[in-house]
Parts: sequence; C-alpha cells; structure tokens
Amino acid sequence: MAENDPSTDADGSTTGAHDPRVSTDVHERPVELLRDLVRFETVNPPGNEKPCIDWIGDLLDAYGIEYETYARDPDRPNLLARVPGGDASPLLLYGHVDVVPVTDQEWTHNPFEAVVEDGFVWGRGTLDMKSGVAMFLATFLRVATEDEQPPGDVVFLAVSDEESGGDDGLGWLVDEHPELFEDIEHAIGEFGGFNLDIAGVETYPIQVNEKQVCWLEATFRGNSGHASFPTSDTAMGKMARFVDAVDSQRLPVHVTPPAERMFEALASAVPEAQAEQFRGLLDPERTDEVLDAMGEDGRLFDALVHNTANPTIVEGGDKENVIPEAVTVFLDCRLLPGQEPDDVMAELREVTGMEPEFELVRFDPGPPSADLDYFEELGQILESETGATPVPLLMPGATDGRHLARVDIQSYGFIPMQLGDLPFLDLVHSGDERIPVEAVEWGTERVYDAVREYGE
Ligand SMILES: [Zn+2]
Repeated sequence: MAENDPSTDADGSTTGAHDPRVSTDVHERPVELLRDLVRFETVNPPGNEKPCIDWIGDLLDAYGIEYETYARDPDRPNLLARVPGGDASPLLLYGHVDVVPVTDQEWTHNPFEAVVEDGFVWGRGTLDMKSGVAMFLATFLRVATEDEQPPGDVVFLAVSDEESGGDDGLGWLVDEHPELFEDIEHAIGEFGGFNLDIAGVETYPIQVNEKQVCWLEATFRGNSGHASFPTSDTAMGKMARFVDAVDSQRLPVHVTPPAERMFEALASAVPEAQAEQFRGLLDPERTDEVLDAMGEDGRLFDALVHNTANPTIVEGGDKENVIPEAVTVFLDCRLLPGQEPDDVMAELREVTGMEPEFELVRFDPGPPSADLDYFEELGQILESETGATPVPLLMPGATDGRHLARVDIQSYGFIPMQLGDLPFLDLVHSGDERIPVEAVEWGTERVYDAVREYGE
C-alpha cells in the first residue's frame, strides 16, 4: 500500500490511482473476497479498519475504478466509489467492515483465518456483514466491467465503525459530507435477505424500518447521611423501586404502520391459527394478551409494538458508610418509529408512578414510516427463487440505515442468504459464526439481479 501512496486533499479525502498488481476477475469469486475480508482483524473497538479499506481501494485501483476515502479518524476511513449508469436514480450498496469482538467465545477454527470446511466459510463477520460487503463489492466490480450500463449509477460504500454506533463511520459521513448522498433515494445494506422460520413458515425478512436508539439517565434523590442510622426514602430505594417497576411491566402498546405491514405480511403466509395471532397483535386491546400467550416466541413482536426501556448501568455511592444523596440509572430505550424521547419519559413516569430527573444522553431519530417502492422488486427476486414469503421488517435493533434516513435515503436490508437450518440469529456476534459457501455465491447473484432490475 505504501508504494501506491494516494494523494491527500485538503478536505480529508484521498483519491486512488491505478494499481496493476491485483487480478481483475476476482469479482467472479465472491467467496475469495469474503475470505480476504475476514482475514483483516477489524474488531471494534478499536476497529483498525484502515488496512481492510486500503485493500478494497487497491482492488478498485486494479479495475481502474476511481474512489475517495473520507475519515474523521485516519485509522478508520470510509470508502466511496461510483459506476455511471442510466437515467434511474442512483442505487447505493453499502456495508460495514468492522466486526464485534470474539472474547470469551468458543471457536472451532481461528475466527480470522476464514477456514473453509464442511461447506462453510468460518469466521468473524461471515454473516455480519463481510459476506454482504463481498456480495456488494463483487456485484459492483462486475457491473463496472460490463458493457451494458446499469439502470442508474451504482454507488459502493464501505464504512467503518457500525458496531459502535457509526460516529467514525456512516453517522459522521452523512453529517460531514451530505453532498455525497444528494441524488440517492434507495440503498441496499443489512439487515435481512436470509431465510427465517416464523411460526413454522419460511420467510425472507427485508429490513425497511428500525427502532430508534434513545439513551436516558434517570436520577433519583433522597435522604442521605451516615449509614449507621435508620434511614428510609433514600435515592437507592427509589431507584430500586423504579427499576423493579420497569422490569415487571410493559410500556403502552403502539401499533405503527411499519409493524402493521409486517404483521399483515406474516398473517398472509402462516396457517390460520397463527394468522389470527398476528391480527390480534394489531388490535391494541388484545396485543399484550396475545404476546403473553405466545410466550418466548413473542419476544421479537413484543419489541415491535412497544417502546422498551432496559436499565443497564447504575451509578451512585462511593463510600461504604455514606448513604448517597443521588443515584443515577442508565436506560437503553428503543423507540418505535414516530415516537420521541418525551413520549418514553412520559410513559416511564406513568408506568412507575415516579418522577425521576431524566436526562437525554443520545437520540438517533429515524423516519416514522418507510418507502416500500423497491421492497416489492427485492421481495420478488427472493420469492421467485425460493417460493418463500418476503416480509418488510421493522428491526428492533439499530443499523447504519438510521444514518441514511437523515439524508432521506430509504435503506433495504438485503444480504440474500439461503442458510438452510443454520440459525442466523444465534450465530451473529457469537462463536462459530459461519456461512455456507453456496450462500455467498447465490447471494451475490441475487444482489446482481437487484442492481440490474432496479427502477424497472
Ligand atoms: Zn452488521
């Protein structure tokens, strides 16, 4: 990489130059791309994504494709490239190259060796989401080498720092360089495109919306003093009563348009008894009752019709014999589309009957609804290949899609994978993360279909 020192511009971006050393048919071998990506130890924190991003840059150089990198932290760049197309609006293919740690996990193979065995590629990131990056990169390179133009420009974006919130990655890029996204309406990224058994039926979720991250601190104040005296109504006691109340009750039900669309799609795919349950979830009078009846199976759906608030950190007291005057509990809240921090604070007051001092620590707002224009095409691609039902997914967790929403880009979770019995949700962020070799090849073809059929 040093031999091909890119020029650095004043705005922190760099421009690549042609590098003839890399072969220009690697786009035909997405599994090889995936294995190369896995071998970069991009564990976040600290991420250290630069060698991996530089490697992608070298590959683009070899294909003669121009790109730019943008970095807040020089060790954590983001790379963007564009292949010109026809009149349709540009389509963005984006993915993160950082991965979560492997600490205290059991692995059959070294998680950064990308061993191929028993028909799988094994390693950290094989599902989340270096497989997606490999599929997008292979498709992008393939489209760039073909004579026939894609329907619109195709934009490839590899980012750092998704797993810790995107403050050095897409969150920063969207805020500092909104001009890069000006003409883009639709994007393909995570989460979705893989087969998921719901109520005994095979579905393919495609994320179109996500819940909003909202971090709060709730502070309680009470009687303090020397711990040798009998004392009641302390900050510690109030905090404990608050946490107990939050722990043992749901917040109020909200049926939002994204959940409605998702449950209706599921109801149309499952046998009548389960369909009745999904319809029941949409009736706020019955929602919680239906969830109770679903038990453990209802956990995902529970998250999609309630704001949630989970206490994660408690701070208060620093001496064994002093009753603290104040205790603060940190709440990781996740808000439904259309809900605001004030709404969840009001719900917490109502449910607990208490009046803590709330402080908003972080709020990543997302759009209240989704643009489903391109969902139909993406769903059709999967349905015609698999016969399974595509489902527009409201995602309980957060992805980089929320950052794109700030520049009015609708993101679709579409990393197509036929995983058979492999439990995606159990393997993501866990030991022995792996992907079938065939799933990488199949998924790459489907991403290519999506790019070629875009806007038709
Ligand atoms: Zn991911």
